[in-house]
Amino acid sequence: MTVIADVAARDWDVIVVGGGHNGLTAAAYLARAGKRVLVVERRDQLGGACTLERPFADERYVMSPCAYLVGLLHPLVIEELALAKHGYRTFVVDPTQWTPFEDGTSLYQWHDDAKTQASVEALAPSDVEGFVAYEALFDRIRDGLRRGPRGDTWLGDAPERAEVEELFADDVEAREVVLEASIADVVERHVKDPRLRSALHGQGVIGTFAGPRESGTAWIHAHHSLGTIGGWSFVEGGIGRVSFCLADAAREAGATIVEGAPVAAIVPGEGVVLEGGERVRAPIVISNADPVRTLALVEGEVDAAFRARIDGWRITSPVIKLNCALSRLPTFSAANGDPNVFRAQVEIGRGIDETQAACERARQGEPAPEWCELYFQTPYDPSVAPPGHHTMSVFAQYVPYELASGTWDERRDEIADATLAIVARFAPDVADCVTDRQVLGPPDVEDRIGLTGGHIFQGELLPDQMWEHRFASRTPVPGLYLCGAATHPGGSVMAVNGRNAAMAVLEDLGKG
Ligand SMILES: Cc1cc2nc3c(=O)[nH]c(=O)nc-3n(C[C@H](O)[C@H](O)[C@H](O)COP(=O)(O)OP(=O)(O)OC[C@H]3O[C@@H](n4cnc5c(N)ncnc54)[C@H](O)[C@@H]3O)c2cc1C
Repeated sequence: MTVIADVAARDWDVIVVGGGHNGLTAAAYLARAGKRVLVVERRDQLGGACTLERPFADERYVMSPCAYLVGLLHPLVIEELALAKHGYRTFVVDPTQWTPFEDGTSLYQWHDDAKTQASVEALAPSDVEGFVAYEALFDRIRDGLRRGPRGDTWLGDAPERAEVEELFADDVEAREVVLEASIADVVERHVKDPRLRSALHGQGVIGTFAGPRESGTAWIHAHHSLGTIGGWSFVEGGIGRVSFCLADAAREAGATIVEGAPVAAIVPGEGVVLEGGERVRAPIVISNADPVRTLALVEGEVDAAFRARIDGWRITSPVIKLNCALSRLPTFSAANGDPNVFRAQVEIGRGIDETQAACERARQGEPAPEWCELYFQTPYDPSVAPPGHHTMSVFAQYVPYELASGTWDERRDEIADATLAIVARFAPDVADCVTDRQVLGPPDVEDRIGLTGGHIFQGELLPDQMWEHRFASRTPVPGLYLCGAATHPGGSVMAVNGRNAAMAVLEDLGKG
């Protein structure tokens, strides 16, 4: 009997559609609770956007093709699913960020506040106080949302906007950041030096099709500052190890995971139909796919309000990701030979207005890579490249899903070259170091990973798609739950969305 025939012959309590890291998390919790759980993943590999690939002719390079740094993974998941036992190890990125400027100076940000302040002082002594206040503002937001009077707002149902307002009733500035401010306003209020403004604003646009002058972008930085696991980190062997450890935990608890098994339809209350036509039975289905994909799979009538919400969901990515094999590390003019810069997340950009203008050009269909972040895993973890060689990931914005002229197939290389050219402004020899590269524009992420619009968070993370406006684990479709990044508390490698979905299912089964 084939694997698929075998799973189709059995009765399941829960089927999880998709083996992304959140689907695997949900499966692990449900299996631990004694449920008969089946995960069906359409690709031949697990992890969704949190996976590993060997994309180059030299297969010794292991790339994290989409996600690359972990910083928001929920500590409860790490502990309860004993990820360390399954091989999860991290290297905390420090310096946290290094930003070179066109005048040859640069900014270092470290976990050690005193070292960061010394770097700020060297650039702009009068901005030290404002810089410290800026950092403290985001610390207050993290404390309010993760350890405040409402406890950890990531767990369980989302707080409503009014509850979030209440949490920051005495902190107008924090409330504005969470609910509406632009990153440009917040940065410009705190620091005057154009270099510092340039270094700070990019964290407000990550993955978002909005410019730094647009409302809500300050929240994007706040979301990425909510981690409580000691800072953004590389995962030993690559970030896909998070998903593989979760899969191990799920299997160990008794879940069955089948890869290469795309679901063609979800039949509410009955189970799923695979693309091969096999029917697999379960009263409960949890979809790890984004809401647009999920809705397209659901058979039968769907609540009109739910359908309208999904139809209006903003889910178009402005991101291009270049994954590069390097024969050597590039030479950053502003680094003065300091090897520490390769241990940092390197931020490349010019000013707030240039970033804003790039976003607007991309809205017109023009590829406008202007701002990017670079990651070099090898200085921490040489295991991902052949001896003496390196990897570099370039996460750049803004590129449109639909080009005003030509197609991605015709222009992919040209757009990738333009992306490397923005790096070359600061590291002129970068192109000479690249021996192979993988280019993932929004349509590529959509095709390969299955994320509609290529959106890295299964939908915009701006405040109007957060809190009660993000999807809940429960849906109005009988027996159907969601567990992906489109659910509260949003996108990134967090795993708490999967945990929340499992808890909702267990609670509902308990009531039943
Ligand atoms: C380029 C890029 C860079 C990123 N960088 C980072 C980063 O550095 N750090 C970070 O924390 N986050 C990052 N993210 C975001 C993060 O990776 C995602 O938010 C997260 O991985 C989403 O996980 P998920 O499990 O919710 O969903 P997904 O990873 O989208 O998984 C959904 C799964 O469902 C499967 N599926 C879909 N349809 C079907 C079907 N019909 N049948 C069966 N299976 C199906 C898909 O194949 C996929 O495996 C990045 C994302 C991208 C794309």
